[in-house]
Amino acid sequence: MTELLVISHPDCGLHDPVPGHPERPARLKAVLDGIAQLDSFEAVSAMAASRDQLLNVHQTAYVDRLDRVERENLESKSAIALDADTHAGRGSIQAARLAAGAACQAVEGAIQHPEHPAFAVVRPPGHHAESDRAMGFCLFNSIAAAAEHALTKAAIRRVAICDFDVHHGNGTESIFAGRRDVLFASSHQIPLYPGTGAPHRKTASNVHNVGLPPDSGSNEFRAAWESHLFDPLDRFAPDLILISAGFDAHWRDPLAQLNLKDEDFFWIGHQLKTLADTHARGRLAASLEGGYDLHALTESALAFAEGITLAH
Ligand SMILES: [Zn+2]
Repeated sequence: MTELLVISHPDCGLHDPVPGHPERPARLKAVLDGIAQLDSFEAVSAMAASRDQLLNVHQTAYVDRLDRVERENLESKSAIALDADTHAGRGSIQAARLAAGAACQAVEGAIQHPEHPAFAVVRPPGHHAESDRAMGFCLFNSIAAAAEHALTKAAIRRVAICDFDVHHGNGTESIFAGRRDVLFASSHQIPLYPGTGAPHRKTASNVHNVGLPPDSGSNEFRAAWESHLFDPLDRFAPDLILISAGFDAHWRDPLAQLNLKDEDFFWIGHQLKTLADTHARGRLAASLEGGYDLHALTESALAFAEGITLAH
């Protein structure tokens, strides 16, 4: 078992603008409870993303707007709506900065110590956030910030972003569509929010989407990656594997209708770790996206962590 680097911060729990919202602080503890069952791991405290790290993927006007929202949050008790289901309250913007910063730290860890996979256990999630807008519980696009951060390093010329969250990572796709140095590979339920990611509506040659119909389970999920996603990833030969790790394709999840089991998250983790070992000297960094059933989060995050740390 290879030791896992875990980056998190208690202030990611301060983002709690709407009572009863499924993207809630308890999700963080649920994932950390799973990680705690590993034989060994190293935990480090997340640092907030710098303004430059955010500006690598977001427009200046958007970053400035969230800075203003943060100041307004200090004066107002009510949450500010950024999108129909995405709100900011006191602590939200800083939590999102910590989430993006943690994903960048995961990249630093994976580059400095390729033998240790890294997992940013943070919230809010990020993969729906586009360059100029918050969306679908996401404020800053953490995995996108991590990819751009990686590409500032001499050793990293090609980054693959693998997204197995049950929702399509529309923000990540829109930020990187058409890029030669980033490949985006995603499996997700269709139809489902946000309504993008249909494979027949290919937006660019570096974008690889597979849609899974409701009620798909382990076989369909594994076949999707084996038949459509691992080959382009192999051909791309990335220097770093990034993972948008969402656990809402689990059968217990209340927001979607796929039927993945804990062992499917072990499987995808181990497959992607094998890919990292083949092409990227083992460099692998993951960041938490969705997953809204607490029991499923604990068990599937543990299974995923075991998958990415299993030595050959
Ligand atoms: Zn999701």
